[in-house]
Amino acid sequence: MAFSSSFSSSCSVSSNAATVAHSSKKNSCNSGCHHHPFSSSSHISFPGAFLQRSSIPRIGCVPVLGRRQSSYAHIYSPVAVLLHEEPEGKTSLPKGNMWSIHKFGGTCVGTSERIKNVADIIVNDDSERKLVVVSAMSKVTDMMYDLIDKARSRDDSYILALDAVLEKHKLTAMDLLDGNDLASFLSRLHDDINNLKAMLRAIYIAGHATDSFSDFVVGHGELWSAQLLSSVVRKHGVECNWMDTRDVLIVNPTNSNQVDPDFLESERRLERWFSHNSSKTIIATGFIASTPQNIPTTLKRDGSDFSAAIMGALFKARQVTIWTDVDGVYSADPRKVSEAVILRTLSYQEAWEMSYFGANVLHPRTIIPVMRYDIPIVIRNIFNLSAPGTKICRLPDENGDCQQLESLVKGFATIDNLALVNVEGTGMAGVPGTASGIFSAVKDVGANVIMISQASSEHSVCFAVPEKEVNSVAEALQSRFRQALDAGRLSQVEVIRNCSILAAVGQKMASTPGVSATLFNALAKANINVRAIAQGCSEYNITVVLKREDCIRALRAVHSRFYLSKTTIAMGIIGPGLIGSTLLDQLRDQAGILKEEFNIDLRVMGITGSRTMILSDLGIDLSRWRELQKEKGQMADLDKFVQHVHGNHFIPNTVLVDCTADTNVASHYYEWLRKGIHVITPNKKANSGPLDKYLKLRALQRQSYTHYFYEATVGAGLPIISTLRGLLETGDKILRIEGIFSGTLSYIFNNFIEKRAFSEVVAEAKQAGYTEPDPRDDLSGTDVARKVIILARESGLKLELEDIPVQSLVPEPLRASASAEEFMQQLPQFDQQMAKNRQDAEAAGEVLRYVGVVDVVNRIGRVELRRYKNDHPFAQLSGSDNIIAFTTSRYKEQPLIVRGPGAGAQVTAGGIFSDILRLASYLGAPS
Ligand code: ADP
Ligand code: ASP
Ligand code: MG
Repeated sequence: MAFSSSFSSSCSVSSNAATVAHSSKKNSCNSGCHHHPFSSSSHISFPGAFLQRSSIPRIGCVPVLGRRQSSYAHIYSPVAVLLHEEPEGKTSLPKGNMWSIHKFGGTCVGTSERIKNVADIIVNDDSERKLVVVSAMSKVTDMMYDLIDKARSRDDSYILALDAVLEKHKLTAMDLLDGNDLASFLSRLHDDINNLKAMLRAIYIAGHATDSFSDFVVGHGELWSAQLLSSVVRKHGVECNWMDTRDVLIVNPTNSNQVDPDFLESERRLERWFSHNSSKTIIATGFIASTPQNIPTTLKRDGSDFSAAIMGALFKARQVTIWTDVDGVYSADPRKVSEAVILRTLSYQEAWEMSYFGANVLHPRTIIPVMRYDIPIVIRNIFNLSAPGTKICRLPDENGDCQQLESLVKGFATIDNLALVNVEGTGMAGVPGTASGIFSAVKDVGANVIMISQASSEHSVCFAVPEKEVNSVAEALQSRFRQALDAGRLSQVEVIRNCSILAAVGQKMASTPGVSATLFNALAKANINVRAIAQGCSEYNITVVLKREDCIRALRAVHSRFYLSKTTIAMGIIGPGLIGSTLLDQLRDQAGILKEEFNIDLRVMGITGSRTMILSDLGIDLSRWRELQKEKGQMADLDKFVQHVHGNHFIPNTVLVDCTADTNVASHYYEWLRKGIHVITPNKKANSGPLDKYLKLRALQRQSYTHYFYEATVGAGLPIISTLRGLLETGDKILRIEGIFSGTLSYIFNNFIEKRAFSEVVAEAKQAGYTEPDPRDDLSGTDVARKVIILARESGLKLELEDIPVQSLVPEPLRASASAEEFMQQLPQFDQQMAKNRQDAEAAGEVLRYVGVVDVVNRIGRVELRRYKNDHPFAQLSGSDNIIAFTTSRYKEQPLIVRGPGAGAQVTAGGIFSDILRLASYLGAPS
């Protein structure tokens, strides 16, 4: 390789020279700046020279490249590092409570203004001594990784991207610093950038970057932010040193993309560092460290939290405060669950579980170092200093105001982009070593197993790995178990992609019965299928694997179930006619109270008529829905509407409210229920339609946790269906249901008295708006027959609408009249017959009533004009009242009677509304 030899020939000179020059520079500046091997590099030098960082005096050859960097593996840097042994212990390192550690995340130091703000916080902290760990300015680490990617893929634009990095820091420095401070920062920045340029060029030529090269490059963000911040703090007149933590933190790489701190060696180096830099305020780089061979490395993405925790342990500090951009640890990722609440306290175990399972507010390795010394971690929001934050400690105090709610499940976290691997076969049971065979194969391909589950039948072992690793895992298993697969002892190695993990975390879940029942219940109610489950015996965590597309809905559903957020229901209203619009107005008036007092958050995500619809992502402003429909209405499309209401947001529960009388809309209920959408309706068409369809619908409803409520189909808002259900479910036997089910016909017969003509009363009812536009629709009795069939089926009778004999009150010759007007004109010709009926009844001390009857004993139903004694409850009605009498085994002598207004928009909408609230309570709203 031509270029490697030319590299090595130039390197011995430049790196040596640089190292020597550098060691003399070291004592003149505070710290880390001494390690950059050459100050200007228009030529390319051997990359190893950058990586060799020796604060331990030695002479010799050091392998500069990691074990895995095969292309360079044979190259040794002839870097001769000769430093004199420094006199130990100029100032010994004080440890303990006098130290407080702060860590400021990238967003906290994202701009010059923010850096100033951080400096103020540091200066105002009245701890005796403080060490501040700082991340790179936000986005900078990503930019640095991007440089490597670009150079590695031989994309020239890495040069421009590097310029952008330079520019960002230069501008920030110019904002913050002046005079010598600015000049010396800029000079180091330029040196660094030149070195990076050379290194990236080498990566570009090689088309390859080793981990060590990458770590060296990406760590610069922290070097710059720490220097900037320390200069700003010094401007406040506070004596302060900055620490290049590559001089102090020594870590051993592991093969799982993690590093293990070497505390003893780090402590030794810290003591040495402190002996030369003994100020009471130290600004340290987060994220970066060195290997025992002094090769720069990192603590991996988001590792600055870990840096702070290691520092906390090394100093035995009083507290580690992690400053970030949220008020603390939330019960779930606030980007996914807008109702998530801040947890006041967490135990170390809980915090660890939360962070391990993807709550990226804290790096998962942060807990262990501080836990060893009982050092509390406090997470605080730099943008909201009044928020107390979350305290993570051994025994959280019990006085947080949400303690009751927090006590069982503290929070939820999710991990995406997983695949499940399922190894299955009858030959596994009782055979020792299968699990070890599986997991050693997985280990051999370097995959990280996130969760394991094996049922005690030992029939299958299933585990989750990152999706990008699943192919190699599956291949490794196929080849490892080839023989067993061929022989049929194992039936398959199955891969299920597109999975996510949802974890519930809480120390008190341990030994509390019912937590997992509640969790799974919430998932079932949101119609979410669970693919695998794991709960360790520590019981701090219950983990479920789900389809990725269900994950956020699942998170919302379980979160709200544990009362951490309101019971939120996404609603779609179909048919904003008289009843629909009355319902919307009722919802508008009541929504606030429901939210405040009952924790029920009803959000109308869409309203559709037959021509136009309006959709919203957050919920339609119900005080303006009529205007919105005019201004923003789009062409109605039922499929699109349903898709929007059910799928376009994070609300776990969806209900469609069908306020039409349309057969086509009703024909979709089955499909909606199957998708997990609840359905509420006053529309009688589905329940009185073909029997087989009705039975399928009810069977589906019984099997699933999806609800179908239709109280308003009979008697509007009167509790008729629910009364009947209550009787049946408590074991009563229904004998007969008889009632006046039509408000219109009730009105007509209640007023068909004395000398009045039947046609006159019908005209009056029509005038008052009690009838359908064509009164024949009421007088024909079909509507009553539909109600009879609904109650008959509810009582267990398998009847079709055609099985119900209906006595129509429309005289035979008028059934074919062309229009409603003609009908009304001709109706008086038939008054005589009806008048005679009434007279006969009156003579016998009776009245006429138009009723529906479900004769459960004889398994029949009918609709007819009947006569009732003057003292019968049916004879006592007024207005458009409905009355329904249930004769049952328990209510045999005296029927159970429900009576009240059974028609009209207000009461019908009220009936629908109460179904909606029933749904909310089924879904977990407090009752
Ligand atoms: P920093 O740069 O300060 O280290 P991070 O982006 O690493 O900040 O972590 C903070 C972010 O973590 C928050 O902005 C938040 O969006 C996200 N996060 C995810 N889960 C949670 C949770 N359960 N609680 C708080 N924040 C969370
Ligand atoms: N700057 C590093 C990163 O973005 C480390 C950190 O901020 O925690 O990953
Ligand atoms: Mg972070």
